[in-house]
Amino acid sequence: MLERGLGAIVLVPEIALTPQTVGRFRVRFGERIAVLHSGLTEAERRDERVRIASGEARVVIGARSAVFAPVHGLGLICVDEEHDASYKQESDPRYDARTVAVKRAVLEGAVAVFGSATPRPESWRGLERLELGGRLSGPLPPVRVVDLRREAGYPLSAPLLEALGAIVERGGKAILLLNRRGVAPALHCRACGTTPRCPNCDVALVLHPQALRCHHCGHHEPAPEVCTVCGSADLVRIGAGTQRLERELELKLPGLERIRLDADAAARPGALSAALGRFAAADRVVLVGTQMVAKGHHFPGVSLAAVIDADTGLGMPDFRAEERTFQLLTQLAGRSGRDAPGRVLVQSFQPDARAIRFAARHDVAGFLEGELERRRVLGYPPFGHLVRILVSGPEPEPPVRALTELRDALGDLGGELLGPAPVLRLRGRYRAQLVAKTEHPRRLAARSAQLLAAAAPAMRRAGLAVVVDVDPQ
Ligand SMILES: [Zn+2]
Ligand SMILES: [Zn+2]
Repeated sequence: MLERGLGAIVLVPEIALTPQTVGRFRVRFGERIAVLHSGLTEAERRDERVRIASGEARVVIGARSAVFAPVHGLGLICVDEEHDASYKQESDPRYDARTVAVKRAVLEGAVAVFGSATPRPESWRGLERLELGGRLSGPLPPVRVVDLRREAGYPLSAPLLEALGAIVERGGKAILLLNRRGVAPALHCRACGTTPRCPNCDVALVLHPQALRCHHCGHHEPAPEVCTVCGSADLVRIGAGTQRLERELELKLPGLERIRLDADAAARPGALSAALGRFAAADRVVLVGTQMVAKGHHFPGVSLAAVIDADTGLGMPDFRAEERTFQLLTQLAGRSGRDAPGRVLVQSFQPDARAIRFAARHDVAGFLEGELERRRVLGYPPFGHLVRILVSGPEPEPPVRALTELRDALGDLGGELLGPAPVLRLRGRYRAQLVAKTEHPRRLAARSAQLLAAAAPAMRRAGLAVVVDVDPQ
């Protein structure tokens, strides 16, 4: 495209997590690139935009919002890791950069290329497909599924301990994925059954070393010594988080250096790249973290990648739960063995789950075939659109009432209307949602907006807020 005098935009999921990507572009294209991401100051952003608009920078690399970069003579838009959920903005304006990329390519006569080892069902069905046969760096690593129902050790099963022990002996690196921060996802009183919950949100408080914390609103309180309801001292920790896993590793494999990578560890600026740098340089080392560790980093010498608890994601009340689990497992497996004879361990209490079986065989086409069939039967994307209307307020009843009125007013315009149903309370706000499965999302969203505008003064008086989200993620 540069040879033809045209420009390009390359979208990547989260630029802070993938400094290597930008480095590679800089090496290849030097001063012709511009980088746009949320970490820039207002002045830096303006400077980059001037360089792009003037034609000085012909290749723009950036996160989601770079899809709007003022490139003249646009020839190409690439969306790297197109399955990544961060391409959808979850605040207003709720656009999906992938939808915008396709529309912009059509309007400006450019080509859109989406790339992924684990494409979304929407893309698999909707886009022309070009396949890269095999990997540049050799075959995919073998995956072993460890059945946790037959294993005593959790979070570290015997096969996993053995594989980590081999690294202590012979050297190498391991990546362990556990998608839960903190020490334990919850405390539980064995005497009365109480689990400490957030006073503002309908979720259990997560145990951290110093306190109980809410992962939604940030509320924190000291972890109690005894049950606050019945006074019993018989409090148990349910499940494991990244910090407990780190401690177990310290106890059982003291010869292994541990580096933790999660939102807590990466909170300080520079901490993330420092951790990644240490991991790249070290030997006999294990990187422990949440899904951050599965995201597009390239490390030489990773001989083991393991998923501590593949069931975490499968239990989510979301029709994309299987898709996301499959993607996460497959992406992590791709981290192992890029340069080393790697292997992958997946620990699970439900080893026969579809997402786990297909991920263990690296069978992307097989998984997507079954997933598309399921979506077709249920009328989920890509076989229809979803429109989600969410109302929140200070009392439990008014959001449900407002959505019931909206549903009745929409009548059969909406296709299939599900709800209203109450959803988790968040930051002290009661919430309810109405979900439409429809072939005509634009018509439905427009009609909803009209009805909601008419009801706006009354809703404002009642302290209600509303969000209409087309194709929610
Ligand atoms: Zn109790
Ligand atoms: Zn909370």
